[in-house]
Parts: sequence; C-alpha cells; structure tokens
Amino acid sequence: MAKKQAFETGAIRNQMGKTPYREHSTPMFLTSSFTFPSAEEMRDTFAGQAEGIIYSRYSNPNTDELIAKMCAMEGAEAGFATASGMSAIFASMMAFLKMGDHVLASRAVFGSTHQILTQLLPRWGITYTYVEPDQPETWADAVRPDTKMFILETPSNPGLTLVDLRAAGAFAQAHDLILNVDNCFATSYLQRPLDFGAHLSVHSTTKWTDGQGRVLGGMVLGSKELIDEVIFFCRHTGPAMSPFNAWLLSKSLETLGVRMDRHCANALALAEHLESHSDIQNVSYPFLSSHPQYELAKSQMQQGGGIVTMEVKGGAERAMRFLNAVELCSLSSNLGDTRTIVTHPASTTHSKLKPEEQAAVGITPGLIRISVGLENIEDIMHDINQALEKSR
Ligand SMILES: *Cc1c(COP(=O)(O)O)cnc(C)c1O
Repeated sequence: MAKKQAFETGAIRNQMGKTPYREHSTPMFLTSSFTFPSAEEMRDTFAGQAEGIIYSRYSNPNTDELIAKMCAMEGAEAGFATASGMSAIFASMMAFLKMGDHVLASRAVFGSTHQILTQLLPRWGITYTYVEPDQPETWADAVRPDTKMFILETPSNPGLTLVDLRAAGAFAQAHDLILNVDNCFATSYLQRPLDFGAHLSVHSTTKWTDGQGRVLGGMVLGSKELIDEVIFFCRHTGPAMSPFNAWLLSKSLETLGVRMDRHCANALALAEHLESHSDIQNVSYPFLSSHPQYELAKSQMQQGGGIVTMEVKGGAERAMRFLNAVELCSLSSNLGDTRTIVTHPASTTHSKLKPEEQAAVGITPGLIRISVGLENIEDIMHDINQALEKSR
C-alpha cells in the first residue's frame, strides 16, 4: 500500500490477495493445515526462510487479514489473534513474566484479569501490586527492582475511570516496564494506546469490535520484537482464534467506524438525558463535562465510547426492580452489541469482589451499567424512562 489510508478505508480495503476466483469479499479458510509443493519448500517454510502458512494454530489467511487490519488501525507492527479476550490478556502476561517478577496493575481492571493477578500468577511466584488508576503521582511508590510490567485498562469496566496514557507511557519508560493496555472499551477507532508509549494493546474483540454479539475473540498488538514473544507463547500453548471468528471479525471491522459513531452519539445523548433525571443520583460518561477526567478523556479518546453508568436512587433493590422493568433493553452480562444491554455489576459481573473492593472501583449497590446499542435513541430513552418510573 503506497499512501497511508484513512481509518475507514483501511478497515475495508485491507484485504488478503484474491484467490483464482477473484472474489470481492474475502472467503473463509476453514482448513486446519496447508500443503507444500515440495519437500524443500516445506523444509524452508519450517525454517522460517520461505513465506508460507503451515498450520492454523500458528496462522491462517483469515486471522492474518484480521491482524493486518488491526495493526493498521492502531499503528502496530505486529499482532496475534486469540480465541477470547482473556486468552489475549493471559498471553500478553505469560509471554513476558517469569517466577520472581512483580506486576503493577491499575486497581480498576476486568474481573477475570483481577482473578489472574490475584489467584493464578501467585501460584507461579509472580506478585502484583494495585495502584490507583487516577493518581499517577503515587505509582512510583509501588515500583520494585523486580517490577516488569504495568497493566491497565482505560476507560475501566464498569467504573469508567480513565488512566492518563501519556503519564503511563512516560512512567513505563522511566522505570523500564512493559506497558500493557486493555483497549477493549475504547476500540481501535477511539483510542490508540501505542501512540502514547504503550508497548502492548490488548483487546477483547468480543465486545465493540464484533459489535453484534456473535463471537468471542482477542488480539494482542505491539512491536514485532514483543509480538514475536507472544507468538512463541501462543504457538506452543494453543489459544489461536478460529478462522471462522477471524473471518467474521474482519468483516465487523469494515463497519467499526460507523457503528462507534452511532454508539457514541446515542451514549452521549442518553448520558445527558439521565443527568437531569430526578431518579438518578449520578451518571458517568467520559465525554460528559461532569466526568472528573473529562479533559483527559478528550485528550486521549476520539469520542466517549458506548458505555454509560448510572446510579439509581434506592440502592440495590431499586436497581433490581429497574432491571425487571425494562422492556426493550436486554439483561445480559455482555456489552458492545447492537442491542442495548443493562447490567447490575454488584450482583453479577463483580459479585466476587468484596464490598470494599467493589467500592474501591466505584461499584455502588445502585450502579447500573448500560451498553448503549444502535436502536433509535428515542426508543432507548423511552424504555429507560418507563423502567425508572415503574421501579419507584
Ligand atoms: C470482556 C472483557 C474482557 C474479556 O474478554 P473475553 O472476550 O470475554 O474473554 C477483557 N477486558 C475487558 C475490558 C472486557 O470488557
């Protein structure tokens, strides 16, 4: 590709070469393995001296296309696609960490990331310290000689706390840490962590990237040098994404920009509406001027994303009544779908956290997370209004 293409163009036109049929849309390569024209070419491919695809646990034309697109979108040299977001996060840690290493992590990380840090890594002699996502001036106190990696998520789930990516990039450089950013909530369209000094940008493509609630997937992006380590780990432990999911996700990316524009417009309109609603104690959305990190949000994200949280007056019981009263919105633990989804984090996704741990990441008993879909905004607002009324 000669000229650097705009985001939307790259997301659509970054396609693998055509087969002899000259198909317009990329076909699916449901094959576990590939063949070789000669013993010598097979030998050279295994030795890494010839281009060629060997086996779908290593690579596949569909996963290669998906990786190439996401690399172009985020300005990454290389990537590896995995079966889920969690396998991407796990691989991004285990490709680099060893016994005796120490990890810094933002306190506001995804539930399963929290379980890896607190329950699994200690089994292998890897320790962690949580730091406050919105207090960069305190991070240095937690650095130790054996600290290797800094893991964070911005905006966080479900608290919508941001981490200053410029500060995190400078901090990682100053202390020689691998900066590992979960970019799932913002997507490649709204935020490019590598531009701010992150070494790895990790995704659950299950969420907004597919955006239609169909498949699980994950992605790790970074420099060729670091991704080679991730590839080594993944080749031999086997969390590869299936070609079917890669094929679907590559097509999902073609519409990521237009979908996110609408998700963000709907989410901002809903957040502004809820802010003046008398039944709501508190509304959070990164692009609301009342968000404590509004200026930061505008300086590192293109738009505010598709998640809005609100705290209903009346605590957990009111929140449960609200969920039971919605008619259009879905009750699901997922997010990033065409359909608007409402969740009560305290009793579901974050129920494993102790009450004080919930409070520390902004999860109150009355908090409801809304993943704002692509339905007409008037219909979404009408459903939320009627459910708030019914739950009084
Ligand atoms: C959902 C999610 C994950 C995990 O992704 P899966 O595809 O479900 O494995 C990780 N991080 C964040 C921020 C998420 O929302």
